[in-house]
Amino acid sequence: MDPLYIRVHQRDNVAIIANPDGLAAGTRFPDGLTLAERIPQAHKVALRELDQGEPVVRYGQVIGHTAKKLARGSWVREEHILLPPPPALDQLPLATSVPAPQPPLAGFTFEGYRNPDGSVGTRNILGITTTVQCVAPTVDYAVRRIKAEVLPRFRNVDDVVAITHPYGCGVALDAPGAHIPIATLKHISRHPNIGGAPLVVSLGCEKLQPDRLFPETNFAKLPVLETDPLLIRMQDEHGFGEVVSAILRAAEKRLEQINRRQRVTVPASELVVGLQCGGSDAFSGVTCNPAVGFAADLLVRAGATVMFSEVTEVRDAVHLLTPRCATADVARALIREMRWYDEYLARGSADRSANPTPGNKRGGLANVVEKALGSIAKAGTSALAGVAANGEKVSAKGLVFAATPASDFICGTQQLASMNLHVFTTGEGSPYGLALVPVIKVSSRTSLAERWPDLIDLDAGRIATGHATIEDVGWELFRAILDVAGARKQTWADRWGLANAMVPFNPGPVT
Ligand code: CA
Repeated sequence: MDPLYIRVHQRDNVAIIANPDGLAAGTRFPDGLTLAERIPQAHKVALRELDQGEPVVRYGQVIGHTAKKLARGSWVREEHILLPPPPALDQLPLATSVPAPQPPLAGFTFEGYRNPDGSVGTRNILGITTTVQCVAPTVDYAVRRIKAEVLPRFRNVDDVVAITHPYGCGVALDAPGAHIPIATLKHISRHPNIGGAPLVVSLGCEKLQPDRLFPETNFAKLPVLETDPLLIRMQDEHGFGEVVSAILRAAEKRLEQINRRQRVTVPASELVVGLQCGGSDAFSGVTCNPAVGFAADLLVRAGATVMFSEVTEVRDAVHLLTPRCATADVARALIREMRWYDEYLARGSADRSANPTPGNKRGGLANVVEKALGSIAKAGTSALAGVAANGEKVSAKGLVFAATPASDFICGTQQLASMNLHVFTTGEGSPYGLALVPVIKVSSRTSLAERWPDLIDLDAGRIATGHATIEDVGWELFRAILDVAGARKQTWADRWGLANAMVPFNPGPVT
């Protein structure tokens, strides 16, 4: 491969090295730029001499200021860039540059499961909700028995999943923010992929009682409807054997119900796609995330819901998003979520600079500003139609910001409350997966897709080498989303059965 650097925006005074093995000192590019020192792949080169204190510009945005004078062709490292303050939240433009809707995309469909509440599932799963971590090993044991003894008789059901988590007791249930994990678990318990009908296992003495999780439900008078929750309270039963038998009987009842579900052709507008990145690198913002953004625009044009999240990876780019909000109210809601998280981090004596990981830095990301500018490329170019607070279920169509932490497994759990399909971009690589929804993994670099051919579903690194365009990969992803949603195609995570733990975000105190 000839020496190649990638400059994103014409205003940029730095670019990233594209060659997989990096480039040696003295390497000369066709435009005459010569490297003053060796620079690894994905790391930044100064395109001109930069004085001390000068803005460092990537994506056409200031990602920081130089800590010292840097010669043309030198390696612009993390320690050379001083982190600027985040955009002030009280001076942001509100809905000043709302993108016009793009032409609708008609005729795209997938085979999904319609639920009585109108939602659509992409899988047919028996999910067993737990109110508290204490019962998780019991439910895991029961699930192994159900899979071996009961499930084989129900050919139309994909899987049995224990919805276990670290929450439910030893927590301050009335503390500010405690509604977030409770709402998350409630929405997951009624997930479209489990037919919206919860089967609940409770211990009995826990803080999170079943009627706290389902306040609209009178458990003493249930069940009446097929979708009413079924409840097993462990401390009401005689011994472990009876508890397991009770779970098996309830599971059989639910399996008889959901085994009757059939895939039907539904429009692409029934998709609720969650977007997330994990293990990002300096390529993420030029390859996989823009390709995902292109697919996000296609989904919006098809009438679907697309969620992006991860507050700390949006915070430093919020000034680019508030003008794009459909209304001033949406922009104010976005700012409200940024402020909530600023205050949350401040209570822990942290700020957004705590976000980047050693892997992000190895991958060439100097700081959270550079990471955020690459991250929001996932959001494409549509108007931002809505904002959901932490724990709130997304109901709007179009592009929605759903506030979550950036932590992969916490963001994924919180998005799971709303989504029926997940797209995950990665630069450094992650084997991430979820039990209840399919996860399509997209790599930022071809070298990762080649190293992990049996974990990465789509290689967006071809964009960096000129072998594909953002549009090509965006369309490929859009078609893959429809194929995976309708189970015409299997993801690698599903093939290997990789499912990360469900970890609801609990900002409240532990007692
Ligand atoms: Ca993440």
